Amino acid sequence: MSIRRRLTEARKQLEAGLKLDGREAALEARLLLQESLNVSHAWLLTHEDDALTDDAARTFEDKLQRRLRGEPVAYILGQREFYGLDLTVSPDTLIPRPDTETLVEAALERIPPNQSCKVLDLGTGTGAIALAIASQRPDAELTAVDFSGKALNIAAGNAKQLNIRNVRFLQSDWFTSLGGETFDIIVSNPPYIAKTDPHLIQGDLRFEPMSALASGSDGLDDIRRIIASAAGHLNQGGWLLLEHGYDQAAAVAELLQQHHFLEIAHKQDLAQITRVSSGQFSC
Ligand code: GLN
Repeated sequence: MSIRRRLTEARKQLEAGLKLDGREAALEARLLLQESLNVSHAWLLTHEDDALTDDAARTFEDKLQRRLRGEPVAYILGQREFYGLDLTVSPDTLIPRPDTETLVEAALERIPPNQSCKVLDLGTGTGAIALAIASQRPDAELTAVDFSGKALNIAAGNAKQLNIRNVRFLQSDWFTSLGGETFDIIVSNPPYIAKTDPHLIQGDLRFEPMSALASGSDGLDDIRRIIASAAGHLNQGGWLLLEHGYDQAAAVAELLQQHHFLEIAHKQDLAQITRVSSGQFSC
């Protein structure tokens, strides 16, 4: 069978099996086939009339079946692009989302280029946020912490792979391993989904680490913990920036106010959802 015909069939299988729209299904089919053949998009475009070898067809079928059983494409490929960086991902890490690029943008607005700045990323997972900031601000000193040692191994591997040297990685339950250390900027994409939210048992989320997604009955337990301790780890005039759920901006702003943060501001993601809230620490 030709590559072209197998791609068309796989697109239809993904549309029917996972209720994906045509564009998404075609993209996923192509990414899985590129991975199976170990080739680039450009190669595929110029070889669509080639026949698939039996070996390649079997490898592709295996990956396609995993996807049809619901496993996220990023875990099957072991990779996801974030802020222009190719990151290794594993089931020990949340899959970086485009929404989270909003948090990176918000942080970069507060970090002047060519200046030293101490930045802390809480719950770094794949390292996505810390590595994106570090790659854009080579003079900044990043600290990236995670509770999960397995996630930290992935993150440190990503830093090495990308040759990004201004991030140090540390195992820590939020601030617990940081002693009295202070920073100019603290960023986090913590878990923020309510533990009873039905989305947690649907689609791709079923395969992601629950500890990176769910946080108590209203989704705000970890955000409360972070906001309550952040002031003790911020330099005068430093900023705390948090990603949160689509309906949590008012609650997060109130928590920031209660803890005496000033200049509270919000930023919308690509879908115009208020996704990031920030406040400035002033004692
Ligand atoms: N934005 C993710 C989602 O809704 C959740 C990630 C998180 O809890 N930090 O799927």
